[in-house]
Amino acid sequence: MSKGFSTRAVHQAGLKDPSSKAVTFPIYQTSTFGQDTPGHPTQYMGRALSYGRSENPTRTALEETLADVECAAYGLTFSTGLAAITAAMNTLKTGDRVVACADLYGGAYRLFTQVYSKLGIQYEFVDTTRLDCLAAALEEPTQVVWLETPSNPLLNVTDIAEACKLAKKAGALSVVDNTFATPCLQQPLKLGADVVLHSTTKYLNGHGDVVNGALLTDQKELWDKLKYVQNACGLVPGPQDCYLILRGLKTLALRMERHCSNTRQIVEWLVKHPKVAKVYYPGLADHPGHETAKKQMKDFGAMLSFEVKSGEEGARRVLESFELFTLAESLGCVMSLVNHPASMTHASVPKEVRHQVGISDGLIRVSVGIEDVEDLIADLDQALAKA
Ligand SMILES: *Cc1c(COP(=O)(O)O)cnc(C)c1O
Repeated sequence: MSKGFSTRAVHQAGLKDPSSKAVTFPIYQTSTFGQDTPGHPTQYMGRALSYGRSENPTRTALEETLADVECAAYGLTFSTGLAAITAAMNTLKTGDRVVACADLYGGAYRLFTQVYSKLGIQYEFVDTTRLDCLAAALEEPTQVVWLETPSNPLLNVTDIAEACKLAKKAGALSVVDNTFATPCLQQPLKLGADVVLHSTTKYLNGHGDVVNGALLTDQKELWDKLKYVQNACGLVPGPQDCYLILRGLKTLALRMERHCSNTRQIVEWLVKHPKVAKVYYPGLADHPGHETAKKQMKDFGAMLSFEVKSGEEGARRVLESFELFTLAESLGCVMSLVNHPASMTHASVPKEVRHQVGISDGLIRVSVGIEDVEDLIADLDQALAKA
């Protein structure tokens, strides 16, 4: 890659609408495309335009841009992050086995345990921050190793290069959910991953106004397989959504700078707060994944979780007292958000499993936005007074 990250995010794979040269890629709001001769779809930007589910130029522009910013050869986008996960799962067959990190996105956990388990795909959840646990799980034949780092909501860090090495040795494909870090801070394909997954709903779009997902890979054969599923299962995003992600991506590097610097200041303030029991953030020197995060990430991101000393009841009072932070599911938005994993994003994970992986009922997850940090700290201050 010769160009820097910001340049690639702004110039979007050099894509211009071939006919108009519009500087912003147009929204092709159409369900189908006319043909001159039967069976010969129009060729446009290297793709055959036959039907809106199979191809759409705005989607192609997004797929090529996402591939470019993640330094991948090939990209695909989907209606949501979960649709992207669904596509990956639909390349498997009954009897196949997936080893996944224990502390993973609640929706992915639900999809694995409630939908694909019933179709005979086997899942084993292991602490992938411990390479010995991963290696032990890989003694049985395994098709996919599923990693999320930093993880949601505990910000656990898995060593991507080492974990992917183990996957490769076991003959399994490695998939890394890079939603929390973004390609701005971490590029798993360069560390040996086979596939990168994004919920582009989050930072890549960044403005809290669309849901979308993506898969990126360097392997043509794998891309062909996933692209087949994207069309065969109809997991595609609409062109307006693709346009919004393309628009959001242009400022990703700028936003991440502010997201990260705000978070550093908030974490520094939170760890000293008398009502706070514990802060989970990979930028903290005492976080177990700190050294690994330093090695594989450019910065530590803008997600953090914390516990208050007054437990679940205290956490509830804090969550109800915010004025600037919005109590909502989702993350990675310009606007700061807070979430109670036990009753919101991770409610579909059984209580025993939640406790086993360390998600306490009093845990508060914070997605730090790009507002003025003084205002965010003032809001945390008044809300924590109620803890
Ligand atoms: C939100 C999220 C997803 C799912 O994406 P949707 O766009 O909500 O379907 C997957 N992984 C992580 C880490 C997420 O935060």
